[in-house]
Amino acid sequence: MAAPFVDKAKITVRSGNGGNGAVAFHREKYVAAGGPDGGDGGRGGDIILQVDGHLSTLMDFRYKRKYTAGNGMDGTGKRCTGKDGADLVIKVPRGTVVRDAETNEIICDMSGTEPFVLAKGGKGGWGNKHFATPTRQVPNFAKSGLPGQTREVVLELKLLADVGLVGFPNVGKSTLLSVVSKAQPKIANYHFTTLFPNLGVVYVEEGVSFVLADIPGLIEGASEGAGLGHDFLRHVDRCRLLIHVVDVSGSEGRDPVADFEAIRAELADYSPELASRPMIVAGNKADIAEDRTGLEALKAHVEGLGMEFFELSAAAHQGTRELMLAAARKLRDLPPITVYEPTFVERPPEVDTSAPLEIAHEDDTWIVEGPWLQRLMSNTNFDDFESRSWFDRMLRQSGLYDRLEEMGIQDGDIVSLYNLEFEYQK
Ligand code: GDP
Ligand code: MG
Repeated sequence: MAAPFVDKAKITVRSGNGGNGAVAFHREKYVAAGGPDGGDGGRGGDIILQVDGHLSTLMDFRYKRKYTAGNGMDGTGKRCTGKDGADLVIKVPRGTVVRDAETNEIICDMSGTEPFVLAKGGKGGWGNKHFATPTRQVPNFAKSGLPGQTREVVLELKLLADVGLVGFPNVGKSTLLSVVSKAQPKIANYHFTTLFPNLGVVYVEEGVSFVLADIPGLIEGASEGAGLGHDFLRHVDRCRLLIHVVDVSGSEGRDPVADFEAIRAELADYSPELASRPMIVAGNKADIAEDRTGLEALKAHVEGLGMEFFELSAAAHQGTRELMLAAARKLRDLPPITVYEPTFVERPPEVDTSAPLEIAHEDDTWIVEGPWLQRLMSNTNFDDFESRSWFDRMLRQSGLYDRLEEMGIQDGDIVSLYNLEFEYQK
């Protein structure tokens, strides 16, 4: 059996923790008191997404759901910086849309070639070599690294195709794709043969080509999840043009106009926007039609709706070229393939600030540490004004400054929080 086609998956990624800075002092014979020489911790590895053109499904993500980048190593003496954690590159098929699992907002659309950093590794902590000042010659402290970020995301594959083939199963969609491109989709005379979407490049003439997608056939009730088809509609979401293939042979006792309208209703149920997408209609299997009643009725119906209609015998290669020329002509005036804009807004993490922080006092420096502070800082973007003000607010609310006051902090003293130091001002 063919491997299952998987076009949606939920995964958890975690970037690496930053390594800790070291406390160390330079020692040499005959040198009385060496200076601080503790090195910095290494940076945690990033989680990076990258398109791999050879992948065509999200199947790998069904079996592996957790992805972790390497942690940074701790710094050591002699000013040695710890080794950075290894980045983890996750390969995804082209057209993968990444959403936040909780809010469903779009984080990125992996349809180009640029890699995307999904989770940034934690910064390494500073070693004590950074903390020597005229008033603080023997800094007995270093900073812990900041933790990595955890994200839960949903990957969703939405193929990148100019034109999508829609229609009931068994009407000849795969046959059409195989005739007009080099793609070799599975073709058989029963319903549901296509379980994988297939892409093919159609060369129309010198310099004119487009990508055609064959998706599994839609069945009535598919958009309500009644059967196969619903999930696959996401693969025509980006298409600029739809070719609606209808069996006009009457061989299965079907009414072409009723079939055409049933599929249109399915599209509208799934998305009204998709239903209004430009559409060309192809009446297929004309070669085995016993009479032309069904074909003519469909042609009149479709043209009455202002759409182009083509008579086709895909299996006999009749009418296929005219249809592809018409598609290419229409594409010329249509906007490019949809690329989804990110809608994701980074929210401050919910941090419980009730646990008391550890405060150590050395000379004029107040070193503050604690798990929630670490988490808060690794999720704060200090280049961003709002993010920073929110950070300040959280610190104030936690009662940290009141405690420092009680302990006797003076104006101008240094407050030292992991990779952040500032002068205290009342
Ligand atoms: P799909 O389910 O829409 O992809 O349909 P397929 O391409 O798999 O075709 C279903 C059956 O219809 C196959 O047996 C094809 O050989 C047959 N078929 C496709 N196009 C034509 C055609 O133009 N004429 C005739 N007579 N048979 C066709
Ligand atoms: Mg098929």
